Amino acid sequence: MSLPNFNGTVAVIGAGTMGIGIAQVAAHAGHQVKLFDIAATAAQNALSALGMRLRRRVAAGKADADATEALLARIQPVDTLNQLADSALVIEAVAEKLAIKQSLFRELETLCSSAALFASNTSSLSITAIGGALQHPQRLAGLHFFNPAPLMKLVEIVSGLDTSADTVTTLQTLARQWGKRSVLCRSTPGFIVNRVARPFYAETLRALEEQVADVATLDAVMRDAGGFAMGPLQLTDLIGQDINYAVTESVFQAFFQDSRFTPSLVQQELVAAGRLGRKSGCGFYRYNGESASPTAVCLPLSQVEPPRSIQLHGDPAGVAFLAGLLTENAEAIIQPGQTSAFARIDEVTFMLTNGKTASQVAKETGTPVVLFDLSANYSQAPCVAISCAPQNDARHNDKVVHLLQSLGKQVILLPDYPGLLVMRTLAMLTNEALDVVNKGVASAEDTDSALRCGVNYPRGPLEWGAALGWRQILATLENLHRYYGEPRYRPMPLLRHYASLSSGAE
Ligand code: NAD
Repeated sequence: MSLPNFNGTVAVIGAGTMGIGIAQVAAHAGHQVKLFDIAATAAQNALSALGMRLRRRVAAGKADADATEALLARIQPVDTLNQLADSALVIEAVAEKLAIKQSLFRELETLCSSAALFASNTSSLSITAIGGALQHPQRLAGLHFFNPAPLMKLVEIVSGLDTSADTVTTLQTLARQWGKRSVLCRSTPGFIVNRVARPFYAETLRALEEQVADVATLDAVMRDAGGFAMGPLQLTDLIGQDINYAVTESVFQAFFQDSRFTPSLVQQELVAAGRLGRKSGCGFYRYNGESASPTAVCLPLSQVEPPRSIQLHGDPAGVAFLAGLLTENAEAIIQPGQTSAFARIDEVTFMLTNGKTASQVAKETGTPVVLFDLSANYSQAPCVAISCAPQNDARHNDKVVHLLQSLGKQVILLPDYPGLLVMRTLAMLTNEALDVVNKGVASAEDTDSALRCGVNYPRGPLEWGAALGWRQILATLENLHRYYGEPRYRPMPLLRHYASLSSGAE
């Protein structure tokens, strides 16, 4: 089965946020688009609003007038489902209710040609369940766009149990023609992005609940030290606390209340209070201009003497990122086979967190210990997050802070929190991504692409985890698991497998 004609008519059902965006994408690619909504004037109103937005871009010199008018002329609002009968592809973006989607496709099956393809933009429903209502479920797949559809590059193409390979191939080709990066996945809760991205929000929400730092400081650790485009709390304000909470809740329920997806009480409280984020004027931050935005708390400039010596210990790969963070002039003490890299700054052990507290590491090493958090790019990050063992003298901590500040970094001091924030988040993201791969939901390449293109992560979690070392990820999760005693942090089987194949001693 394939689209009879790639210039064929595309029907979009539901003219809300997603429907009008998808209609714009299809019309931009040259298709005639028919737009239907159950609410009488919704399709026409959505088209008028789109016209105003696009013509403003023309007036601002950002778009071509003729191309814009031609695009708008290709979108035709229609009043009845019957008028969609000649469509080559029908994409629904109606209310997120299984019964509504099933009855819609059941009716479309009686109207459209047997060659027409059906696609659902559902974010959380099972494509297999929607297809259960069809006589020919092989023609149905998920085509999951991200909001705003015209801007977001990613589309998840989701196969239900009965979706045919031809349907998937045709949608892949179409997505490419529409300028989208498509990834393939099986119909499982949250597909790829809405599942693998959960820990990005969850770990920072947990740190907030555990009073690790204030909202702005936690966001700064993830953004300015970690290298993510936005802090998780900032991003939930943009997405809408209600939407983000609902996705977490739905994935949590769909995975039989697995603790790794447990929703956050802090977020639930915001939703209950109507503090939904930007759209309501207030979420974690305030957007009414009345109060200044909170800023991250960084340490003042240290006035102590610089350290006398910096030694890097570990194998070459291990010390490379430390050298990037510290200074190329540090003396490297290469010990083949030793994967855990650390620096000695005078007598202080300075190392990447591995899920143990600084206090634990200090007891084990018998030295003062300062741990630092992970970054996607140490040399470009404006900021480094650290934690210090409570048994250190203040002068030990000052030496490390002085060194980092002399390298142009702002320093955020966190309490002695296991796994700090970026490291524990990446460990959880990687763990989830490996579960997706292990269960055949998506390939490793598509999983990484989905997170890079769908939520703009600086690196795919699998590529990042592999670069850091599977054993570092495994150690972080095992240490967190021990610390909390919660199954939330249990390492996935594929992580254990990859870690066991890694070379070198522990
Ligand atoms: P929306 O509420 O903005 O729009 C839904 C539209 O569908 C409304 O205009 C409504 O009148 C219409 N509708 C409802 N039942 C209908 C029916 N039986 N026939 C025709 N029209 C009907 O919703 P939305 O945010 O655009 O979401 C639509 C779908 O896209 C949902 O399945 C949602 O899960 C999914 N989705 C949403 C987002 C997002 O960020 N909003 C992102 C990806 C996927």
